[in-house]
Amino acid sequence: MQKNTPTNADLISRSLSAVWHPCSQMKQYETFPLMPIARGQGVWLHDYDGNKYLDAVSSWWVNLFGHSNPRINAAIRCQLEKLEHVMLAGFTHEPVIELSERLRELAPPGLGHCFYGSDGASATEIALKMSAHYWRNTGQPDKVQFISLQNSYHGETLGALSVTDVALFRDAYGMLIRQQATIASPDSRNAAEGETSETCALRCAEALETHLQQHHAQLAAFIIEPLVQGAAGMAMFHPIYLKLARQLCDKYDVHLIADEIAVGMGRTGTMFACEQGGIAPDFLLISKGITGGYLPLSIVMTTDKIYQAFYATETARGFLHSHSYTGNPLACRAALATLDIFEQDNVLAANRQKAAFLNSIAQPLRELPFVKNWRNTGMIWAFEVVSPHADFAQRCFQLGLQHELLLRPMGNTVYFMPPYVISDEEMHILLTRTKNIIETLT
Ligand SMILES: *Cc1c(COP(=O)(O)O)cnc(C)c1O
Repeated sequence: MQKNTPTNADLISRSLSAVWHPCSQMKQYETFPLMPIARGQGVWLHDYDGNKYLDAVSSWWVNLFGHSNPRINAAIRCQLEKLEHVMLAGFTHEPVIELSERLRELAPPGLGHCFYGSDGASATEIALKMSAHYWRNTGQPDKVQFISLQNSYHGETLGALSVTDVALFRDAYGMLIRQQATIASPDSRNAAEGETSETCALRCAEALETHLQQHHAQLAAFIIEPLVQGAAGMAMFHPIYLKLARQLCDKYDVHLIADEIAVGMGRTGTMFACEQGGIAPDFLLISKGITGGYLPLSIVMTTDKIYQAFYATETARGFLHSHSYTGNPLACRAALATLDIFEQDNVLAANRQKAAFLNSIAQPLRELPFVKNWRNTGMIWAFEVVSPHADFAQRCFQLGLQHELLLRPMGNTVYFMPPYVISDEEMHILLTRTKNIIETLT
């Protein structure tokens, strides 16, 4: 039976007693309370006490077209009446076929085969396994190592953690993983005195070549977040690095894995970030925004060359990996509805105008004396704040909520990664309130 509508306070205490929340020290919720959300509409999240919050981080980078989007809702409802789920081993269905065909059209050339997982980390796992297994199937069983960029993030399961360079995780779980080497990140913030972001990228590509020269015989793949390293604090880099990384991986016979889990689906201004380097990777990882932020789904796209190396009579030469919800029909329908919106609303062009508008009204914020490294790629903005508070991120988050904004800084990096449906007026709200918050905290 439906009880009375709960309050924020009811739900906070029940949640803290029964739910172990992710990415959290649970004790901190004593000081910084949880936020129960009752419903969402467009860019707004509504709690149980009549407050609302502008979701400036797209609910952890997944939401593209707003909460409770009528077109995505309708697509899921329609699929729900036909088939909620069926296993994908030995079975197939229209949503997964259509989605694979459409992604093949949209992705950089040559990525004709789609393998499905349920979340971003499993896409990373799939690509790492597939790459090493490819080399074994083609007679190079020593190629079992991987490289990633400094401060990379590719997920938090044990295999994904081995190519994730976050000190906190490495210190906590290093004993469980086979940590892989990292190489210099072309992060423009690291440009030396007198370097441009482009020359910084060129220097880092040389470091990549040095590593490849020495280790290529043992290397299966290089995994990279193209253009923007999200968890590194929205570290942005010059697209020339992608082009050079592709050339070097070809030269040294190492796979290139493009983790576009966060940057894909139009986030950097093109459908996939790799397009801006003019390259196609050997593996393209897609998740997060692909379902519009509705349902967990991930896809690993790869080439016919790799696919053919597994095509044989022996089971053991085939790719050995599965998840219970592989290719879930509801998630695929949400993804197809998301692709429809891209097409029908000419979203990439519309986003260029939105980004230009936001930049045109950003001056008062970016000129604050405590705001550094203001940067923008597509529909991602970020800057560092020089603040006297050691717990700046928590304070900024908390103060944001008081201003009806959901901001979730990473350390001293504040970023905006709003749903693409954000209006001019909402962008104004975002910038003026963020400016107030930063002024209070500096
Ligand atoms: C979020 C993210 C992942 C992991 O995805 P999950 O669904 O959280 O497992 C991997 N790589 C990148 C670049 C991400 O942003």
